[in-house]
Amino acid sequence: AREALFQARKMEAVGRLTGGVAHDFNNLLTIVLISLNLAKKRAPDSPVLDLIDNAIQGAERGAAMTQRMLAFSRHQPLKIETLVIADLLQGIQGLIRQSIGPVMRIHTRIASALPRIHGDRNQLETALLNLVINARDAMPGGGEVLISARLPTAFDSVEAVMEPNEYVLLEVVDTGDGMDEETARRAIEPFFTTKDVGKGTGLGLSMAHGIVEQLGGKLMLESVLGKGTTVQLWLPISHELTVQAGPSSIAQCASAT
Ligand code: ADP
Repeated sequence: AREALFQARKMEAVGRLTGGVAHDFNNLLTIVLISLNLAKKRAPDSPVLDLIDNAIQGAERGAAMTQRMLAFSRHQPLKIETLVIADLLQGIQGLIRQSIGPVMRIHTRIASALPRIHGDRNQLETALLNLVINARDAMPGGGEVLISARLPTAFDSVEAVMEPNEYVLLEVVDTGDGMDEETARRAIEPFFTTKDVGKGTGLGLSMAHGIVEQLGGKLMLESVLGKGTTVQLWLPISHELTVQAGPSSIAQCASAT
């Protein structure tokens, strides 16, 4: 618990610091962009026009990055509603297909008669897409991704030390490269990435983690180097308008690890 508290404080401090720096940096970049665009207008025949364009492009990329950092550090309040997981997944089916690589196969398995959950639709969609993109990046040579929604089993709850009857499990399982011990330990840290500059922001998992924690759930990671990764989102069941929870149609979901 002390470790978790330390981690939470660290994330809060990183968030605050990032917000401050990103805000000031954004203002500076705005000045740079305005000046460069003015220079272009005043000297349309300048021999260094291509250099100005390069600088504009760079500054625009920087501005997009600071925007992302600002969005991350601002704790946007969640819009909580009662959600049916099947609808949530259905809504982003197209986006998921667009995000995956051509050599990947994707399966979706939704247990029947799952209780509804309560959550913020947009934020959960973003979190899920981030997980799918991570799975894609971990499988450059192809592989399989399973997105599954089911009730936790006793086995899951022992692992997670969570009350199983209160959650629906949304899992993204891949057969990719997996993570070494240090990566697995640090993966949720904001800005921790093993990807090339411009490819990874190191914010995907920390954002997903933040969203789920805000909802009162939990994000669990399990990874085996060379075998694959499972990310579980424990999403709290909504007790308003809860659909009768029937037996799950999948008792145990296939795991890559
Ligand atoms: P990013 O994807 O931008 O690097 P994330 O916070 O989503 O940021 O992930 C942090 C790091 O965790 C990644 O750089 C990668 O090393 C590791 N990681 C995340 N998901 C997976 C996965 N499915 N398989 C292997 N490694 C992963």
